[in-house]
Amino acid sequence: MAAKTRVVVVGGGVLGTMHAVEARKRGFEVVQLEREPEARGASVRNFGLVWVSGRKAGPELSLALRARELWSELGARVPGLGFRAAGSLTLATSDTELSLLKEAAARTDAERRGFELLDAAAVRAVNPALRGEFAGGLHCRLDAIVEPRQVLPALREHLAGEAYQWLPGREVSEIAPNAVRDHTGAWHQCDLVILCPGAAHTGIAGRYLARSGGVRRVRLQMMQTAPLDARITTALADGDSLRYYPAFDLPGRAALPPQAGVAAQTRAQLLLVQRADGGLTIGDTHEYAEPFTFDVDEDAYDHLRGRAEALLGTPLPRIQRRWAGVYSEVDPAAAGRMLYHRAEVEPGVVLVTGPGGRGMTCSPAIAEETFTP
Ligand SMILES: Cc1cc2nc3c(=O)[nH]c(=O)nc-3n(C[C@H](O)[C@H](O)[C@H](O)COP(=O)(O)OP(=O)(O)OC[C@H]3O[C@@H](n4cnc5c(N)ncnc54)[C@H](O)[C@@H]3O)c2cc1C
Repeated sequence: MAAKTRVVVVGGGVLGTMHAVEARKRGFEVVQLEREPEARGASVRNFGLVWVSGRKAGPELSLALRARELWSELGARVPGLGFRAAGSLTLATSDTELSLLKEAAARTDAERRGFELLDAAAVRAVNPALRGEFAGGLHCRLDAIVEPRQVLPALREHLAGEAYQWLPGREVSEIAPNAVRDHTGAWHQCDLVILCPGAAHTGIAGRYLARSGGVRRVRLQMMQTAPLDARITTALADGDSLRYYPAFDLPGRAALPPQAGVAAQTRAQLLLVQRADGGLTIGDTHEYAEPFTFDVDEDAYDHLRGRAEALLGTPLPRIQRRWAGVYSEVDPAAAGRMLYHRAEVEPGVVLVTGPGGRGMTCSPAIAEETFTP
């Protein structure tokens, strides 16, 4: 692509915005359209976890590691991202969970992931706020945190200038080769269109996704507390997360007892991140069958609050906010499953979506791959 290449990005979420960043890095002119006045999708509803620890060995881990490098570089240039190389602790509360963590720490790629198995005292030395009951933990030094509610405006401010145009409140309703039309009727011509519509599977991307299949939507429940009067130095995960992340698909996983009650019904795992203001973002649940519930379920929150309090050994501050979010993910059951969905759907129009629960983590590396011949 030549120096004056013009790129139109559709979607103001993290995937669209990271594509804008990559396009500008290459000297291209960028116009970015977002249907809402500000992005309201998965990218602002997530934990802000740059999560390397749970990734599957092979291409998924490599993508996450590359993304981690890019986040770190961006974090140094754009302080507003709130990037912190905080690491994470995955905590075991039973012998079976601890055995599985031992297996994970003995993986051949454990060093690439920054894994180290810690006993309970060593866990407390790394994260003194953990005063509850646990048998040990897996420290992953490479996991990191960003502030999801700040990332998009901070990146746009970083891009601001003549060669970058942000057009919020413009819903793209038509696609043609090398062009899109927004709901006001304006056409945007360019050399390359990048469509990043997130979980909008029936909108502009609908007919292409219906044809190719292979993506589904997942709904999660989340909450955030008022500031906690203590510093949580790392991100936290509980033993339930061992059931969901592919890095823990090791022989010891078969020995884990089934999840009980509400945790099983809502496919819950505890992930906890302290925000820059001291509040705690806590989740999550997983709902796969549509139509999704339109309200949030208190039983799931009671369960997650109980798990968090048991590990912290202290009552949580008041819950300030609750919300649900939906992400797009390539269907694990689809043949030849990719890490995300990318397809040239019309000449000069590339659709990128479906990174699933790793989308915040991997977005910079996914955008880099789009522009890498
Ligand atoms: C609750 C929750 C927690 C998560 N936690 C993490 C985490 O901690 N770490 C991690 O790596 N991943 C996490 N994820 C996944 C991650 O958030 C998503 O994979 C990622 O944000 C997807 O980004 P996106 O830009 O594709 O989608 P979105 O953020 O949904 O952005 C898509 C944008 O496109 C816009 N749009 C759609 N159609 C049009 C149109 N026709 N015209 C104009 N604009 C349009 C939408 O309005 C939207 O703003 C989580 C997801 C959820 C829901």
